[in-house]
Amino acid sequence: MATAPNKKATQDVKLDSHDPEKVKARLLSKYPPKVARKRAKQIVVNRVDPDGKTPVISSNVRTVPGLMGQRGCCYAGCKGVVLGPTRDIINITHGPIGCGYYSWLTRRNQTDPDCTADGHNFMTYCFSTDMQDQEIIFGGEKKLKQAIQEAYDNFRPKAIAVFSTCPVGLIGDDVHAVCREMKAKLGINVFGFSCEGYKGVSQSAGHHIANNGIFKHVVGLDDTIGEGKYRINLLGEYNIGGDAFEIERLFERCGITMVSSYSGNSSIDAFANSHTADLNLIMCHRSINYVAEMMETKFGVPWVKVNFIGGAATAKSLRKIAQYFDEKELTDRVEAVIAAEMPAVEAACADVRPRTEGKRAMLFVGGSRAHHYQELFAELGMRTLSAGYEFGHRDDYEGRRVLPDIKVDADSRNIEELAITPDPERFNPRISDEKKAELEARGLQFGEYDGMMPEMPDGTMVIDDLSQYETDQLIKIFKPDLFCAGIKEKYTVQKHGIPLKQLHSYDYGGPYAGFKGAVNFYHEIDRMVSSRVWQYMRAPWQEHPELSATYAWE
Ligand code: SF4
Repeated sequence: MATAPNKKATQDVKLDSHDPEKVKARLLSKYPPKVARKRAKQIVVNRVDPDGKTPVISSNVRTVPGLMGQRGCCYAGCKGVVLGPTRDIINITHGPIGCGYYSWLTRRNQTDPDCTADGHNFMTYCFSTDMQDQEIIFGGEKKLKQAIQEAYDNFRPKAIAVFSTCPVGLIGDDVHAVCREMKAKLGINVFGFSCEGYKGVSQSAGHHIANNGIFKHVVGLDDTIGEGKYRINLLGEYNIGGDAFEIERLFERCGITMVSSYSGNSSIDAFANSHTADLNLIMCHRSINYVAEMMETKFGVPWVKVNFIGGAATAKSLRKIAQYFDEKELTDRVEAVIAAEMPAVEAACADVRPRTEGKRAMLFVGGSRAHHYQELFAELGMRTLSAGYEFGHRDDYEGRRVLPDIKVDADSRNIEELAITPDPERFNPRISDEKKAELEARGLQFGEYDGMMPEMPDGTMVIDDLSQYETDQLIKIFKPDLFCAGIKEKYTVQKHGIPLKQLHSYDYGGPYAGFKGAVNFYHEIDRMVSSRVWQYMRAPWQEHPELSATYAWE
């Protein structure tokens, strides 16, 4: 359904005084022809038709071997992203020690063990079977059983999850059979994930496998309908730097009950009960849309896309919730909270904006933030020149309207698609078709996400699976005022004299979500783009020829 790139329309568009098509040609010029042909489909000059259609972008395809990219693996998406933040499940990495070690506490999903009576919080631990040569040769199932038993004996958790790493699939360990056996033996929920690092092409495959696993093994185990009005789940919010805490604070002020979060500060009991909520809110569409779709099909819970990054976006998302429940009590409370919280956001923005106005940013992050954070930069008067995802799919770029056109290629075909049907007893459509139609007529979109590209201006460059070489070229050509990416890019970019804001770890700050988060972000960006340190990249004798000196190492 999406249109092919419209060359005529992009010819006359200038991007910061450059012709974006020429920039694209320059990025591709050093590649061998086969690589250039492939990358040409992943580097797109944006153009938005009046009806919101954009050019087609190739994404979720295998990274070219030898190009230094940003991507991680399927295990990282499954254990690191989706299940890692759940505080009361013991997550055992089944594999050699590297995978568990390097993912140990490096993602900043915060947890609050005091919010459940048991106080369980295993976040600070790294559990691994630490496979040796012996297990590779003779199999690791025995050691895995032993590890599950030891974890149970030492911690008495409610649940244990097992995550497969690269060698596990190759040597044929049946982690699922081990989990079934240990579940029967220990009487707690034990489940496994076949999320070997080589599956799919990126973290994205791991998200899908995690969604499937949690839906199969946990969702729907507890039908108790808890107390509280306006019962929602917050999906795809991982509480980096306390983002979910800030969103939860707003929910509490508005009188909205959060049944579960997927999966910042989450608990296994909340997952088990999450199908009793009346609405799913999706923050990160890429990582969690599968759970939302499956919950709607099986239990009748609809979903809407929200974005709590930015003051205006937060207000809009709270209003969407109020619109869905359509009760005066909630609408009034939401409006009162927005009225109380927005002035501080506006004041902070007005203070910072004179120093950020007109500055230019580039964002290359994961599968949702490269879109969400453009809103915050726009509030600061900053322009986004280029953006892209590590592992987004076409629907994250172009919107879910292109879903019927997406062809699953050979690299992703082995990721299971669960066949979900309505639950004969528990399927309960939360709103009638008439009510849904009425809300849609009033602008509330159900089960829709328009994607990043329709919201980016014509001529901006959208680049999927950016390589280090392309990063360096973009910096040389545009000299942006700020680059947003992750830890692997941070120091190479800063060596060019350009500040890099980490939008995965937040450079150990945050929260950036909600109203308070927006204020934090404004101040942080002001600090980064106004810092004087960038003036000192060149030594005084390099600036002033009358001076003469050398570095000691020269
Ligand atoms: S690619 Fe394989 S070895 Fe590397 S972190 Fe992922 S699972 Fe571990």
